[in-house]
Amino acid sequence: MTVQTHDFEADTGKILNIVINSLYSDRDIFLRELLSNASDAIHKRKFLGQTEPKLLNSSEDEISINVDEKKKTIEIIDTGIGLSADDLTETFGTIARSGTSSFLEAIGENTDNKDAAKTLIGKFGVGFYSAFMVAEKVVATTRKAGEDDTLIWESDGKTGYTITSSSDAHETGTSIKLFLRKDAKEYADFQRLKTLIKKYSDHILVPIFVTAKDAEKEQANSAQALWTRSPSEISAEEYSEFYRSSLGAFDEPFITLHNKTEGSIDFTNLLFVPKTAPFDLYEPERKTKVSLYINRVFISQDVDGIIPTWLRFVKGILDTTSLDLNVSREMVQNSPVIKKISKSVTKKVLSELKKKLKKDETEYAAFWEQFGKVLKEGLYEDFENREKIAEITRVYSLKYETLISLDDYIEEMGEKQDKIYYLAADTLKQALSSPHLEGFQAKGVDVLLMTDPIDAFWMSQMISYKEKAFLSISRDKYDLSDLDDEAAAEASDDEETNTIAALIKECITDLVEDVKPTTALVDSPVRLVAGEGGLDFNLERILKAQNPDFEGGKKVLEVNCNHDLVKKIPALSLDLQKAVSRMLFEQARVLDGEMPSDPQQFSKDLIALGNAL
Ligand code: ADP
Repeated sequence: MTVQTHDFEADTGKILNIVINSLYSDRDIFLRELLSNASDAIHKRKFLGQTEPKLLNSSEDEISINVDEKKKTIEIIDTGIGLSADDLTETFGTIARSGTSSFLEAIGENTDNKDAAKTLIGKFGVGFYSAFMVAEKVVATTRKAGEDDTLIWESDGKTGYTITSSSDAHETGTSIKLFLRKDAKEYADFQRLKTLIKKYSDHILVPIFVTAKDAEKEQANSAQALWTRSPSEISAEEYSEFYRSSLGAFDEPFITLHNKTEGSIDFTNLLFVPKTAPFDLYEPERKTKVSLYINRVFISQDVDGIIPTWLRFVKGILDTTSLDLNVSREMVQNSPVIKKISKSVTKKVLSELKKKLKKDETEYAAFWEQFGKVLKEGLYEDFENREKIAEITRVYSLKYETLISLDDYIEEMGEKQDKIYYLAADTLKQALSSPHLEGFQAKGVDVLLMTDPIDAFWMSQMISYKEKAFLSISRDKYDLSDLDDEAAAEASDDEETNTIAALIKECITDLVEDVKPTTALVDSPVRLVAGEGGLDFNLERILKAQNPDFEGGKKVLEVNCNHDLVKKIPALSLDLQKAVSRMLFEQARVLDGEMPSDPQQFSKDLIALGNAL
């Protein structure tokens, strides 16, 4: 027998403490966490057994729970896949594997705030470790399918754990024995366990038996897949229990979608749109959270394309009888059946979201706050669903100082307006202080302010919505006088203004593509707009951040020739004309969120101007 002793990773003890203390009032959940692990392990074994039959269990799969009311122990035994020594170190040895440090970072100063900790734990998932809420010692005895060794993992949840290899024969699968803490002894109770299983784990497909010394072995769950029942017979509580116990959620669902579709393809969907975003929503893998079942047999949690990545916050199951259980994973992934199911389910989710938006804007706003950025990825990459996603998209309106829909924007457009004006910027504050807005504000024309990085991308793809073209007010050419009721537009080819513009151009000819007079400005002297065929600034900035070699195009400096400072330029000495022109150019960059192109020259010009006062 060999014993290996391991210390926990540095932060594990700390996290365990947070977990134990903040979830204290919800200690019951330890059972559903362990049962759902046991059931996952059984499904994994079945799944691997399809290609490697020797891994399969020859008898019926089950989970059994032995409770010793005297010794205060509970043992949960499954006939699942089991764990190897490496699996043990990787899984039971590491808490919140998906991000110990990000967990602590996120929780920050909040360790005393139980609600905050709870929400975070929900997002990160502590699964197995919830056992330590009720146990002072946990012993896991396990044998992996296809391997000979039995391993014993033991820990007090504080300092570390040991792994011992044992020569005792153990069935394939895992047994988790909990030695209950003094203050959790009430769990060593046959009836209590049965009630908890019924409440939290009824839908687990594998039968769960409970045995106590003086009691008969009893099956505690109905082991019927919830989604196979008729929606009319399922209560809202049952749905949310399923959502939490089987899908590991901690919140209430925002939307529950349970449908049976029959026709050329048969499938059932039980899908949930959550209320709160999980912590991994923006991980680069963009993993989806919908499990595929074929005829009630679990196949996989990550079938590519089962639902679009821009709906990766949707959790749930799809169960179909239109696929063959024996096809390989790759074939499942590429099958036209999956494509059709995905298409139909996507439509359902979008139409349900639209209904929610119509029914309760406030609730929808809370949803949008959590998942809006992800949905917008669809505007960029999903040509087919773009229009539908745009219908439920919310954007910030300059005029109404809140999020509105594109339809709201179009409805409010004046008679002469035929474009959707928008400004992309890094932050709302920056957008609001942009000189580009002045002309619109003066005319009371609304502009959509786009401040998510993804915005610059989808706006450049989408071109129009309901036949109204999008127009970037920092990039595209436009003439605001087109919006005037009377054709009293100021003459833009006024000789004087042209002379000033030409003068400034002389001074900064190497910095800009052109200098032009404009009527789009009111209080600011100048602004920069994209040159011929140029990109939107925000998009340019994002591309620059990704690729340091990326060179943005030269801009056009537009000049407000009615501005006092600008009017003074012609009378200045040549040196000061140059200094003022450069300053104007640099400050326009600063307002767009850029550094001055030449900070040294910028500071010299400032001093020269100061001296000239
Ligand atoms: P999660 O289930 O959310 O991944 P857990 O902390 O509950 O997180 O479990 C960590 C991992 O340990 C699981 O993903 C699984 O690989 C493994 N595991 C847990 N319980 C069992 C079990 N009874 N049999 C086999 N593997 C298990």
